[in-house]
Amino acid sequence: MTADHVAETLKHRFGFDAFRPGQEAVVRDALAGRDLLAIMPTGGGKSLCFQLPALLRPGVTLVVSPLIALMQDQVRLLDDMGIPATFLNSSLDGAENARRQRALLAGEFRLLYLAPERLLMPEFVNGLLTELAGSVGLSALTIDEAHCVSEWGHDFRPEYRQIRRIREYLPEMPCWAFTATATERVRGDIVAQLGLRDAAVHVASFDRPNLYYAVKFKDKHSYPELLQQARSGGSGIIYCLSRKRVEELAGRLQADGIDALPYHAGLDGETRRIHQDRYIRDDVQVMVATIAFGMGINKPDVRWVTHFDLPRTIEGYYQEAGRAGRDNLPSRCTLYFGAGDIHTAEFLIAQKRDPETGEALEAEQRIARQQLRQVLDYAEATECRRSIQLRYFGETFQPPCGACDNCCEPRTVEDRTLEAQQLLSCVARLAQRGQRFGGSYIIDLLRGADTDKIRRNGHTDLSTYGIGASRSQDDWRIVLRALLHQGLLTESHDGFPVLQLNADSRSVLRGERQLQLALAPRPARGQRRRGKTVESGDSPANDALFEELRSLRKQLAVERNVPPYVVFSDASLRAMVQSQPRTPEQFAQIPGVGDRKLAEYGDVFTALIREYAEPPTPT
Ligand code: ADP
Ligand code: ZN
Repeated sequence: MTADHVAETLKHRFGFDAFRPGQEAVVRDALAGRDLLAIMPTGGGKSLCFQLPALLRPGVTLVVSPLIALMQDQVRLLDDMGIPATFLNSSLDGAENARRQRALLAGEFRLLYLAPERLLMPEFVNGLLTELAGSVGLSALTIDEAHCVSEWGHDFRPEYRQIRRIREYLPEMPCWAFTATATERVRGDIVAQLGLRDAAVHVASFDRPNLYYAVKFKDKHSYPELLQQARSGGSGIIYCLSRKRVEELAGRLQADGIDALPYHAGLDGETRRIHQDRYIRDDVQVMVATIAFGMGINKPDVRWVTHFDLPRTIEGYYQEAGRAGRDNLPSRCTLYFGAGDIHTAEFLIAQKRDPETGEALEAEQRIARQQLRQVLDYAEATECRRSIQLRYFGETFQPPCGACDNCCEPRTVEDRTLEAQQLLSCVARLAQRGQRFGGSYIIDLLRGADTDKIRRNGHTDLSTYGIGASRSQDDWRIVLRALLHQGLLTESHDGFPVLQLNADSRSVLRGERQLQLALAPRPARGQRRRGKTVESGDSPANDALFEELRSLRKQLAVERNVPPYVVFSDASLRAMVQSQPRTPEQFAQIPGVGDRKLAEYGDVFTALIREYAEPPTPT
């Protein structure tokens, strides 16, 4: 296999001039017939790493995929590139199944996608698999989403554990495992459970340079901001913690004129399927969802992902936010968080109980608390967001990244030592009476709230009662959070959380330590940023051409009954806007245009571009 041959296949079949970072080395090892484990982030371009070798090696490449939706999606994309691929699954009737099997045995397909259950069926192993091995041959066994093999991963699938049996049955066939899961433990599990031999392990950086990360306080400005984000165009996903919140927010956005749909496990399968399909086909713009939405969604042009509630873990956040910008175009990931979210998260953790005995699952609760703490550390951090995320995955990143709020947006540092002292002395006064309370109660006291509980406890005569009445409850929560976060106050659990002074609290009270808050300034009213949040960096004329190309793409997609991104990615459309190809030769230079797409779409797209660039002169 010469390098020229590889480059030619890359260009003519896939339409790409060059490999992405990391792809070339994986392809080289795959072509050499080695076992391999490739760990690449979402959008890294994993599929190409086995699809290209599948075209260049003799025999059929098997691809194990956990979801029917994923198989269909990949086969549609390959179809449209003119690469012969098929899948076998339970959605096909007997005749169609038989037809595909015959075609496979006749060597008409280069890739066969299937679920692990199918791969493991004795009828399949003794039937088609054995026949393929003995005729056209088997090139490799590809395991997509290979983290499903691990109990430590997020989508454990016990059948993935059995794949090893196939390896023992056909020991000559190399195994190529792919995943975007970054943890060390899962990697080790994949190698062991799939029985990889002398595997070439490739780990790409988990940096997603096209994603802009920001965290914002949740307050009365949040919803208008979200609405503006939605109005700025581009597909988006909004994640919420509960079904109820999903429904509420989707309804509110709809009422405000946004094409939004809800998605959560409480909807029946058919409704979920329809909502997902409409989203993928760009019929609706925004999906408001719980984390039930995501796996199996290959939509490459998600322009923004907003978490309207706290994610449970950093890894979860990275993966969910990472559904934005698979096509490597600039995309925004925003996390909103407010003090109330912390209470909700803690409440949910406290619910982790043994369903039979009702006893607290202490180990699980401890892990969940630690994960929550990491998420809060991320949310409240003033350092580069990207550095924090990548550190979590064991990578070092040298800030500034140039694409996160902490690196790009100026912060104002405010001194809140006075409020900190007021809050701490309130805790101290109660401690003198041998009493301990939680944060909400302390804040009520500071604000001089007139509640039954305060009167009953006789706390209206405390010297700190009402000394902080001029500040809002949210303001006090921020101060409280910062004190806890910076270790200047301790929260312990006495059945319920109570506040306790520590040595550092006392140095704040003595004035030896300050409480500093780094806050993102809000734009003054009236000068809020307008227009697109994800700037295309293009002139209005180019944006108009882009929109025209998009509607042509949509029309072609509807005719072919495929999602628009199967026809072309946004990245290809943007490249067309940039170079405005008018001839087939020029069109062939666009990334994503291989021979098949050139033949299929070259004429219509270049005609539109010509018409746009040289409008017929009025006579
Ligand atoms: P992953 O499965 O790792 O999330 P995909 O295989 O879906 O990533 O690829 C993500 C996007 O990158 C796709 O739109 C794909 O067409 C594009 N892509 C892959 N390889 C290249 C390349 N060498 N050059 C340009 N674009 C690429
Ligand atoms: Zn940064």
